[in-house]
Amino acid sequence: MLFSELGLQAAMLDAVAELGYKEPTPIQAGAIPHILEGRDVIGSAQTGTGKTAAFALPILSKLASHAPGPRCLVLEPTRELAVQTFENFEKFAKFTNLRIGLIYGGVGYGKQRDDLNRGMDVIVATPGRLLDHLGEGAVRLDGVKFLVLDEADRMLDMGFLPDVRRIVLKCGKDRQSSLFSATIPPAIETLITWAMRDPITIEIGARRSVADTVKHVLYPVAELQKPALLVSLLERVQWESAIVFCRTRRDADTVDALLRRNNHKAAVIHSDRSQKDREQALEGFKSGKYEVLVATDIAARGLDIADVSHVINYNVPEHPEDYVHRIGRTGRAMSSGDALTLFCAGEAAQVASIERYIGKKVERVKLSDFPYTYTALFDEDKLGPATGRKTLGARVGKGYFFGPSRRR
Ligand code: AMP
Repeated sequence: MLFSELGLQAAMLDAVAELGYKEPTPIQAGAIPHILEGRDVIGSAQTGTGKTAAFALPILSKLASHAPGPRCLVLEPTRELAVQTFENFEKFAKFTNLRIGLIYGGVGYGKQRDDLNRGMDVIVATPGRLLDHLGEGAVRLDGVKFLVLDEADRMLDMGFLPDVRRIVLKCGKDRQSSLFSATIPPAIETLITWAMRDPITIEIGARRSVADTVKHVLYPVAELQKPALLVSLLERVQWESAIVFCRTRRDADTVDALLRRNNHKAAVIHSDRSQKDREQALEGFKSGKYEVLVATDIAARGLDIADVSHVINYNVPEHPEDYVHRIGRTGRAMSSGDALTLFCAGEAAQVASIERYIGKKVERVKLSDFPYTYTALFDEDKLGPATGRKTLGARVGKGYFFGPSRRR
């Protein structure tokens, strides 16, 4: 399947060609024709599947050229996702005269008001700040013909559904709506029934699976040795850029300090950091100024960070869904990646629940020549499937697990 077969406008095809996309991903091939046709679409797809282009390309195609008033509204749960989606829209709209606006909290109102005054075709927004502007009368949404509710399950988790409803009520009734969500819990089903018109559902891949492009393994270790193992892994594994996920903000700060002490260019991102610091960390990581991004779950969902070769879980995620989401940071779209999870005896129950959730045992591996102290996790019967262990020594010894770097 080629992009040119989907019915998109030439300006979109040019943008896609410039971005180097060779062929549509499954969610793009599935959703684009329906959105072009005027259908409401529910996209149930994992993060990193190319879903932004799946809605942005057909909507931009239909908007075609600049006209007064916002005609497309995209709601995002977090500022980071709003920024990322906005940047994608700008790239896809490069060969049009369409104007894309970005509305999110934590920054001043002035520029956003000016943008709204100038007239935007597409507004990418987080709900709270958009409601502020609506309250002030700085923007009207009755001309909105295309509504996108992105990462709807995340909006639910963050308590935004009432805000989303208020915003949807202000949008034009004669509109086309799309909703994207990794999972469809009952509250989202209610929202769908209420806000959408005869939607078609496009489900890509099993919702619980880890992307096929990710090689993920577990590193059993005594709790006290986690810092040393992390440092050794970063010395010995062949990697280019890594995200290290921690459970708490405190752990994240500690790991950030540990990595800096070990001469890694690291930055940290969590909810106690100011918006400015978070943006700088993310930008610095994307540009290559930082090689490691230490993060709590705030960065786990949806954030598109290109070319992450490794995801490292310093703590086993508490919820199995977070495991799938966290390691979704690598192996995105068409590339592949590695995900390593450090786990200690106290986290064995979480590991078991992840394995139940994804329906598979995750391979346990050891770093060769690391001065491991004993942990019960090393007992034979707890070290996973025999097939994984038989070849373990040789494979680890040769560095087999650590694929070649992919940053070009
Ligand atoms: P998304 O799921 O929208 O966050 O996209 C994940 C990543 O895949 C982004 O870096 C996109 O630029 C990239 N991407 C999206 N569509 C394609 C495609 N058809 N071919 C290659 N890369 C893509």
